[in-house]
Amino acid sequence: MRAARIGIPLAALGAALFIFGGLMHAADTSIPIYFPNSKLIVKAETFNRATYVPIKEIIEFMGVPYTDALALETLTLRSGNSRLLMTKNSALMSYNNQILLLPSPILREEGRWLAPIEFLTIGLTRLTGTEFRYRPGTPRIFADNVDSPELEMNAQTLGPITRLTLRCSVPLKLDLKRDNQRAILAIDRPALDPVRERLDHRDRMVRSIAFDDSDGDAKIILDLTRDVTDMRLTAADNNRVFFLDLLTKKEPVTEAAPPPVPTPAPAAKPDVIPAQRKVRVVVIDPGHGGMDTGAKSASMVEKDFTLVFARKLRTALQTRLGPTVLLTRDSDVALDNEARSAVANNNQANLFISLHAGYSANKLDDGSSVFVMKDNFGQAFTTAAAGGRDQLFLPWYLGYRIHHQASVSAANVLQEELSKAIPGSKFAVRTAPLAVLSSATMPSVLLEIGNFNNPVNAQTLADDGFQKTLADALVNAILRFSQSPQAAN
Ligand SMILES: [Zn+2]
Repeated sequence: MRAARIGIPLAALGAALFIFGGLMHAADTSIPIYFPNSKLIVKAETFNRATYVPIKEIIEFMGVPYTDALALETLTLRSGNSRLLMTKNSALMSYNNQILLLPSPILREEGRWLAPIEFLTIGLTRLTGTEFRYRPGTPRIFADNVDSPELEMNAQTLGPITRLTLRCSVPLKLDLKRDNQRAILAIDRPALDPVRERLDHRDRMVRSIAFDDSDGDAKIILDLTRDVTDMRLTAADNNRVFFLDLLTKKEPVTEAAPPPVPTPAPAAKPDVIPAQRKVRVVVIDPGHGGMDTGAKSASMVEKDFTLVFARKLRTALQTRLGPTVLLTRDSDVALDNEARSAVANNNQANLFISLHAGYSANKLDDGSSVFVMKDNFGQAFTTAAAGGRDQLFLPWYLGYRIHHQASVSAANVLQEELSKAIPGSKFAVRTAPLAVLSSATMPSVLLEIGNFNNPVNAQTLADDGFQKTLADALVNAILRFSQSPQAAN
């Protein structure tokens, strides 16, 4: 948006004036202009698809002296010895001895001087030194070097929950209010620059999600359905990340068809009296998803294996133990580590299991391991050099620490049951700085199964019978763990 310099005298401009006869006029919108310590809300108007801003309101706010010469139909702004002169219905302005060209003419409508938004950078910056920034098509303007951190929004359907994730490079203070079918998430920080104005996401709980700061106060407006009975707001990463979970009272496991209960069969005498069980909510995390495929074998990618197996494990657990089982993802979507552990945290899970396939450079290795979060992990640690996405450590609030011992005993029980059920696999208990476990506030483990680098082993993993054996072994282990004193109350 560079100003053109045209070397013709102002007197010759008469011929260059264009008059707009039938102007296409669209509805007004409020646009905030953010200055370093203040803000101005102006009414912007659209004529012939160009955005116009009211000149006098802006220059009065900035304290720029001007003369509005009614008879001449000119407006002159002054700063020091400089002068910027504009004329009604002309796209040309005179700045000292230069001519500046705007992409569309200045208008004067009902006593208001309106300039195309480019007037700010082409004319006003030149005159006052104040710089203006805006993304084309977005309803806000940043003036001078006001700090305007980006705000990212994302929405996902996570099984029975709908989650809105917000991310900002600076800490934010949020306030959530609900008014019937609307929720308003007020953000106590001016001059935010949202990456997207609204999200396309629509599901059972949400009709629309949009950022709005037309009155200068940043907020996110959610249009909800009647299914939403509760909302939970969780902060992470020192208030730079927030999760707003929309919940429904309906039994949170209905998204999958209820598993067929094995009817008359040997009524598998219930191994346990439910009242004695301390594991009521289990969150299973199918590793990877979306663009992040995880390891690849000749026949399968890890993200598919983990999801298929997680669904089977959910069915097996519900059938045999009857806890509430939630998956962090129930489709092929990317999910970051905070989102995964937040599903467990927000649902007060008693056990969190992240599922992965093992991978060893040595084809003959057994890649199976049960990982728990490495204890006494330094706060200063930021990104683990330890290869692979799974080992990217995000410094959260280190929620795992409280349940470290319980996680270790869960891992031991899992190891025993798994190595019993699958002879030849050791399922060594290991520790590692695993991001997905670091912020889980309940006993949590990460399971790596098999060796994706071994074609035979990978084929076995895909086998339905093998997966059933694996799921049964895990159910046995979870049952044992749920009866142990280490299980959370
Ligand atoms: Zn993995």
